[in-house]
Amino acid sequence: MGKRLTIGDNDLIKNLNLGIVLDTIRTEGAVSRAGISKLTGLSKSTCSLMVEKLLRSGLIIEKGKDHSSGGRKPVLLQINYEAGRTVGIKFMADRIIAALVDLNGNAVKIIEKPVPFPVDQKEYFASLEDVISNLLDFQQNGVERRKVLGIGIGMSGLIDSEEGVSLQSSILHWDNIPIKRILEARFQIPVYLENDVNTFALGEKWFGFGKEIENFICVTIGKGIGIGIIIDGKLYRGSHHGAGEFGHMKISSDEDAPLCSCGHRGCIEGFASDPAICRYVEQSITEGKESILKGEKAITISKVLNAARKGDTLCLEAFKRAGYYLGYGLSNLINLFDPDTIIIGGEGTAAGEFIFPEMESVIHTTSIYGLDTKVKILPLYYEDNLWVRGAATLVIREIFKIPF
Ligand SMILES: [Zn+2]
Repeated sequence: MGKRLTIGDNDLIKNLNLGIVLDTIRTEGAVSRAGISKLTGLSKSTCSLMVEKLLRSGLIIEKGKDHSSGGRKPVLLQINYEAGRTVGIKFMADRIIAALVDLNGNAVKIIEKPVPFPVDQKEYFASLEDVISNLLDFQQNGVERRKVLGIGIGMSGLIDSEEGVSLQSSILHWDNIPIKRILEARFQIPVYLENDVNTFALGEKWFGFGKEIENFICVTIGKGIGIGIIIDGKLYRGSHHGAGEFGHMKISSDEDAPLCSCGHRGCIEGFASDPAICRYVEQSITEGKESILKGEKAITISKVLNAARKGDTLCLEAFKRAGYYLGYGLSNLINLFDPDTIIIGGEGTAAGEFIFPEMESVIHTTSIYGLDTKVKILPLYYEDNLWVRGAATLVIREIFKIPF
């Protein structure tokens, strides 16, 4: 006697089919019931049943007609991107960026709230709750509060995304904060937490340049340097939540290499992050190098960038040097992963015109098997909405999840 299906198995199959049908409609854009059956191999009656269920949930709508060779034109089904909203949030050391995002990844409303630095945890949470309440109360096109389906948060550091706990954050200096539990208790909405560079990569996979590719790496440069790795279409997190700490890849064993925020020497971040670039300029001025920033009390990255734009030799050299080390790091990534594309984002791209030429030149001289000629390097100039879209994707992908 064969294995009998239990009620549980039956439910599981129904859920699987529901997920498959929903995902087919999402990826096709607009498709008929017969089209879904053809694409998925599911029977027409199963497809119709699943479609009715999805129509009742409001997650899909009937729209337009398919081109038909004759007879009655079939109705097309598509995702109702207005069925709900999500909230996407990016934690930063000096501000919180948050947005109401539709199910197609478009930010409907963005709020940016500065927070005092250094970070005071209590104050930070008060600002965070304020920002979330503002977005939940925001009404547009009749979308009501109950239709916000979840909150996605991206933040730097080591994150246990299953439990929604910030384990370690070198920028925010928080350890073991159960952010998901705190915010779910406060707002009664599902909350998802993920490393910010991973959210950036997920946003690219769902809505950006990564849509059609299976293997790519998102690199972010700025205050910190990190990567989000997509392998075979899926985010790679590692075994202990720690994958992607590219900023701490060692590229120098020199005892005098700059000290990194992680406490070690020789990390890429110690050479190519914004603070590293500022430190290099400061130190060079102290050693007697000429610069229009000589005499400045505090060297900030925006001052270095402005000086470079005016042709200041030292500041130009500082960015070129950052590009040199970044190039070595990226070359290691290319030799390790052989990705289709490397997407570069983050605040640091504002200085891309001074960083990227040297970076690309190092990549071309240090990659093996000619991989440097095959990989596409794609700089995305910094935009807040890429971060919030990524964070919102944490919620959106749960809604469209195929449950296996
Ligand atoms: Zn480090």
